[in-house]
Amino acid sequence: MLSIILIVVGYFLSESGSEKWIVIINRAESILVLGLIAGIGVLLLKKQFKTEAELRYIANIDPLTCIANRRYVLAFLEDALHVASHFETELSILLLDIDHFKTVNDQNGHDVGDEVLRRVIAACLPILRKSDMIGRFGGEEFLVVCPQTILEDCLIIGEKLRDTVERIDLSDLSPTLRITVSMGCAAMGKNQHDSGLLIKKADDALYHAKHAGRNQIQVA
Ligand code: GH3
Ligand code: MG
Ligand code: MG
Repeated sequence: MLSIILIVVGYFLSESGSEKWIVIINRAESILVLGLIAGIGVLLLKKQFKTEAELRYIANIDPLTCIANRRYVLAFLEDALHVASHFETELSILLLDIDHFKTVNDQNGHDVGDEVLRRVIAACLPILRKSDMIGRFGGEEFLVVCPQTILEDCLIIGEKLRDTVERIDLSDLSPTLRITVSMGCAAMGKNQHDSGLLIKKADDALYHAKHAGRNQIQVA
């Protein structure tokens, strides 16, 4: 609007031959146009940053539980293993699976099942340290990565998780609803930093935990 006024004023001044004022108004116009272009540029950049952040969120976060998805937690594990092998530090993982979750769905409905998943995560997050990472590995299966953690300490974390999940109050969802989790724990061996192998070890241990009666942790 201001630049239109300046153009109109500039036109009338050029008619009346006032050169000094024409120069001043031309400069003001140029500054305005540059300001306008810079403003548009800043707005476009802001929009671009927002879009990129939104895309990164969609790509990395599980929409139901709002924690890392499988892709992101696996990428974290790869990086953590790389760091652990480089600095020769320890790393342990837990593979956590909710027991009889199909029955939870069958008896209470899928929506209750979804809410149970959210509550399990809400209960587990405060137990984990800032350096740990939990991600949704599959439907009702979660991967916990604990960098700089020996197997014994990871077992202590796992036991806290197990105990906490067992105590979650779900009575508002269904008076008799209780849930438990089984876990497989594995630690990175010396000169062994293959994430697939480590997960396989934890998965085998989880299998044993299920077959030994559930609601427990087994070690690879
Ligand atoms: P187990 O103790 O051996 O692990 O038994 P389970 O019933 O937990 O295991 P199973 O693999 O038989 O069933 C897993 C169930 O998890 C089946 C599937 O419908 C449910 N599930 C997976 N993802 C979701 C989800 O996002 N929401 C809900 N509500 N259920 C889910
Ligand atoms: Mg299960
Ligand atoms: Mg499962």
